[in-house]
Amino acid sequence: MARYIFITGGVVSSLGKGLSSAALGALLQARGFSVRLRKLDPYLNVDPGTMSPFEHGEVFVTDDGAETDLDLGHYERFTGVPARHTDSVSSGRIYSNVLEKERRGDYLGKTIQVVPHVTNEIKAFLDIGGDEVDFMLCEIGGTVGDIEGLPFFEAIRQYSHDKPRGQCIFMHLTLLPYLAASGELKTKPTQHSVKELQSIGIAPDILVCRSEQPIPEKEREKIALFCNVRKEAVVAAYDLKTIYDAPLAYHKQGLDQAVLDAFDISPAPRPDLTVWQDVSDRVHNPEGEVKVAIVGKYTQLEDAYKSIAEALTHGGMANRVKVRVEWVDAEIFDTQDAAPHLEGYHAILVPGGFGERGTEGKIKAAEFARTRKVPYLGICLGMQMAVIEAARNVADIKTAGSEEFDHEAGKKRFEPVVYHLKEWVQGNAKVSRKVEDDKGGTMRLGAYDAVLTAGSKVAEVYGTTSIDERHRHRYEVDIKYRDKLEAAGLCFSGMSPDGKLPEIVEWPDHPWFIGVQFHPELKSKPFDPHPLFRDFIRAAKEISRLV
Ligand code: GLN
Repeated sequence: MARYIFITGGVVSSLGKGLSSAALGALLQARGFSVRLRKLDPYLNVDPGTMSPFEHGEVFVTDDGAETDLDLGHYERFTGVPARHTDSVSSGRIYSNVLEKERRGDYLGKTIQVVPHVTNEIKAFLDIGGDEVDFMLCEIGGTVGDIEGLPFFEAIRQYSHDKPRGQCIFMHLTLLPYLAASGELKTKPTQHSVKELQSIGIAPDILVCRSEQPIPEKEREKIALFCNVRKEAVVAAYDLKTIYDAPLAYHKQGLDQAVLDAFDISPAPRPDLTVWQDVSDRVHNPEGEVKVAIVGKYTQLEDAYKSIAEALTHGGMANRVKVRVEWVDAEIFDTQDAAPHLEGYHAILVPGGFGERGTEGKIKAAEFARTRKVPYLGICLGMQMAVIEAARNVADIKTAGSEEFDHEAGKKRFEPVVYHLKEWVQGNAKVSRKVEDDKGGTMRLGAYDAVLTAGSKVAEVYGTTSIDERHRHRYEVDIKYRDKLEAAGLCFSGMSPDGKLPEIVEWPDHPWFIGVQFHPELKSKPFDPHPLFRDFIRAAKEISRLV
């Protein structure tokens, strides 16, 4: 059975629990252990699928079609272990399961309570797959003391008692603020946060202390003494230039050793960190720089396109260049010419998105990239916009648009080159949707196969003609327009295996113009950059050498 590591946070939010968990997962792997990472989120949404990226950052989609927290993206990028729908849960999901069981009569006669019914549901979730790996790392979202978080804390407390002694440990992340006026690192907030944890019955085994300044030995001893942990288990987490230094940095501070000690694993297997040394070397020693514009809607919050930003970095690492990403708000082009805003970039990426706002700007960005021969990668909505651009400006379908933007009944503004997908095949089964369906979890979600045209650009990029990639969309390019668009020169180089759904389009006479209906960014890793991002940045690098 797996050993469980529960990761909690205190003092303030945004300390990077997700990243620390992911880095620890990578370090345990480097010592030869198998791991799985999991996120338990206290919010009441059933999943993050309907949350605005402005509020919560991107929605990370798993192969099995779950819409999950962006921390699962960190987990995958650091460990390479594909996340599953059972790796992410929220209070909303837990309560909805409990209430469903109550209605079904599963608890007949009983009064339903947080303890034991909600906590049992959480514990049942923790058990899933517990016999498959050496370590299960479970991160609790939010900070200790949050009202919604309490059932999760109670559940992990109980869990550690339900299991044999030594099967579970608790790792707590805190902040040591630095007071410039007195030149001191303050440990009091950490002490309070640990007290809060102890008051709900959890005694942390390891403290990870975020700090801008080196933690003096004296302070480390003080924290150990006042927080009731071993001195070696007080691990410093300093700010890093790049997140990809985290595994090496945590190793240097002794985090993985502290974890193995806490579990009494001795002798500890020696770590092989060559992969992370190579990753770190590639990030720190680029041989050039390329500038990429991301023309999108959620440009104020970088987390909204987290996986794209990371995948671009991975593409840079593969080509030994630094990728400078600039976020361009698509709405600027509603009123202004795109050219002055897009000149000077070595590549343009139009990411996914929902709703009409900003789409005319994205269409202009696609036109700019096509006519100026700038490498273009269109992802999901970014592919749909590239197709609409081709339809309007090359195939002479002047009013081409997407059904997504024509919601007023009876008033059709656009010819629907992109239409609302109502039926598709998943495995051997047919899936159907109605326009009025719930908004949560009803899109075409998760991994689907696609067949690539031999000899096409994408087939060359992937080095194969059969791929599977993750999807999250409700609309689709209408196959009805394929002949007209192909006659205009746009090539449909990737299709669903039944030949009905366009998955990839490209302009063969362009140095690099590819639109994909799926999200390749979700599968990119620093040690295994996604082929599309690798080649997109290679093309950008080539352009950067030309100009
Ligand atoms: N809004 C579009 C659709 O639902 C694109 C979705 C996306 O970019 N993820 O098809």
